[in-house]
Parts: sequence; structure tokens; C-alpha cells
Amino acid sequence: MRGKWSSKPAQWWTVYSVNAEKCYLDDHPMVGQSMQVDHIIPESMFRDSEELAKVLDLFIFPSDFSLNSYENWLPACPKHNNLKRARVPNGKFSRKSLY
Ligand SMILES: [Zn+2]
Repeated sequence: MRGKWSSKPAQWWTVYSVNAEKCYLDDHPMVGQSMQVDHIIPESMFRDSEELAKVLDLFIFPSDFSLNSYENWLPACPKHNNLKRARVPNGKFSRKSLY
């Protein structure tokens, strides 16, 4: 699958529940209706292969990491998603919190 997030209900629900129905950027509870699906590694970075390689290395992600898959989707509230925009998450976020 390529391009923007497509909100198939089952995918949406999985992303919502996988982080205990919390915003992954600030760990607060969130009502489902307001949830946005965030790309951990932003789409824009996938257009710059050098930058992407650096980021994948930083997070110890495999080189075949996929933009549009569950490995790159987490639930965020609109406020924090908007603050994050096209950056990778800061120090609060580590590989450890993913698995
Ligand atoms: Zn939030």
C-alpha cells in the first residue's frame, strides 16, 4: 500500500488499541473519535534516502522498514500530532517503548 493513510475500520481500531487507547506522543488517554494515525517516521523522510538511512539507524529499524504498515503507525491526538508534524519523535520515544 502506498500514499496516505486509508482508514479501514479494522486497521484504525488496531492502531487505536495497540497503544492502550492512549496518545503515543504524550501518553494521555484519548477518545477514539479524535484519534489520528501518525507515521512514526514521516512520509517526507522516505523521499530522502540518506536522511531515511540515518533515522532507521538511529532507531535500530531494519532497512526494509515500511512507510505504510503497522510498524510505522501509532495513535496520536490532533494536538500532539500537529506539534510533531514532519519530525521523528524526540527523546520520550525509543525502540524500547515500541516492543
Ligand atoms: Zn496527545
